[in-house]
Amino acid sequence: MNLNIREFSSNSDGFRAELESLLAWDSVSDAGVQKAVADIVEQVRLKGNDAVIEFTNRFDRRRVASSAELEISREELALAKDRVSAELVTSLEAAAKRVHDYHERQKQPSWQYQENDGTVLGQKVTPLDRVGVYVPGGKAAYPSSVLMNVMPAKVAGVGEIIMVVPTPDGLVSDIVLAAAYIAGVDRVFTIGGAQAVAALAYGTETIPKVDKIVGPGNIYVATAKKMVFGVVGIDMIAGPSEILVVCDGKTDPDWIAMDLFSQAEHDEDAQSILISPDLDFIKDVKASMERLIESQTRKEIIKASLEGRGAFIHVENMDEAMDIANIVAAEHLELSIDEPEKWVEKIRHAGAIFMGRHTPEALGDYCAGPNHVLPTSGTARFSSPLGVYDFQKRSSLIYCSPEGASELAKIASPLARGESLEAHAMSAEYRILKDS
Ligand code: NAD
Repeated sequence: MNLNIREFSSNSDGFRAELESLLAWDSVSDAGVQKAVADIVEQVRLKGNDAVIEFTNRFDRRRVASSAELEISREELALAKDRVSAELVTSLEAAAKRVHDYHERQKQPSWQYQENDGTVLGQKVTPLDRVGVYVPGGKAAYPSSVLMNVMPAKVAGVGEIIMVVPTPDGLVSDIVLAAAYIAGVDRVFTIGGAQAVAALAYGTETIPKVDKIVGPGNIYVATAKKMVFGVVGIDMIAGPSEILVVCDGKTDPDWIAMDLFSQAEHDEDAQSILISPDLDFIKDVKASMERLIESQTRKEIIKASLEGRGAFIHVENMDEAMDIANIVAAEHLELSIDEPEKWVEKIRHAGAIFMGRHTPEALGDYCAGPNHVLPTSGTARFSSPLGVYDFQKRSSLIYCSPEGASELAKIASPLARGESLEAHAMSAEYRILKDS
């Protein structure tokens, strides 16, 4: 199949403009979606279960009569697991363990220190009480999303984990339910879209109100998450998935072609970019892609993604490749090169960095251990992968000894008066010891 993929060079005129247009992505949903989501969120806030049932029946084509039909018990999750093949259960369990073990290392302990006068200062780390995990299910089933969102919450010690997943036409994915069972989700509701996000944010008669909502979803889910932020916490607003492969030209072109496909097959808006200093290699990868795409079950999506948002970028050398990688700040960055550990030093912005020719993104998506929920659309410049820290919060600890309070009050009092806050000043001054 012929592929018409954008190709440009770093030494061409207008390179920066070309790069900017390649990376441009408008994450803001249109006014129609905004209005529809605002209405759904408001209806759920006001009418609770009745609205959730109405929207679920309408958007997921179901015939639910009572809210009890929306919940799947732990026993039913266990039965779903029994219906899944032994091979798949083994893979789910192995992946869950690896993701768990990786995230164990992210746990942040409380800490404190004591000053000479006995004053103690520190930080108390507490897991969130209740978290909602949104697992997308409109067009495909994502058991890996269950593991990646739930395991860090479990490791953090979250009190209760509520999972929501839409079941269009009432079709439940046994693999998703098996993953929920293995990950240790507490309650599962078969609802999705903006109505699920609103139900988790405000609570209904049966769906508990949570403190934070995590997990990816389509434009309705993302818009609803943005709308309820403040009522609850959210993890991030994920845009379309992206991969940037930097290759020196010494990896099998078929491998690179398939790594680029692995991102493009997600959806038409996904972005796959190859950067290489070797023009012949870029040609070889393109030839591999045109040959291999024929065998792909999602070839139409792959073609649309590659032709719409994909690119080959030719650079002068590896240093330049790393500079461009930092501008792109990709969700997934593959360094398919010699001595990746040397070059990784130069990378400042990327959601996840896959080092070496034997480390395709696909392994990270499922089971390497690190989280696959990553910052997209260049937001790796200022944000991080989903982790245990997203499910923990911190409280400051302050204990003043009488001597410590007295000394602090002498600093605080003039500052308070400088702000014309009399009560603050006096509150501090009461603590000044008479003979100090
Ligand atoms: P989804 O669960 O996000 O959305 C399905 C819901 O959308 C439905 O239940 C319905 O309520 C709502 N909806 C659909 N049409 C609507 C309409 N016209 N009006 C109001 N509500 C409507 O499932 P999806 O659609 O398959 O999307 C999943 C998304 O999640 C994809 O974009 C996929 O790429 C992304 N994803 C991302 C990751 C990641 O880690 N970043 C992982 C898995 C999936």
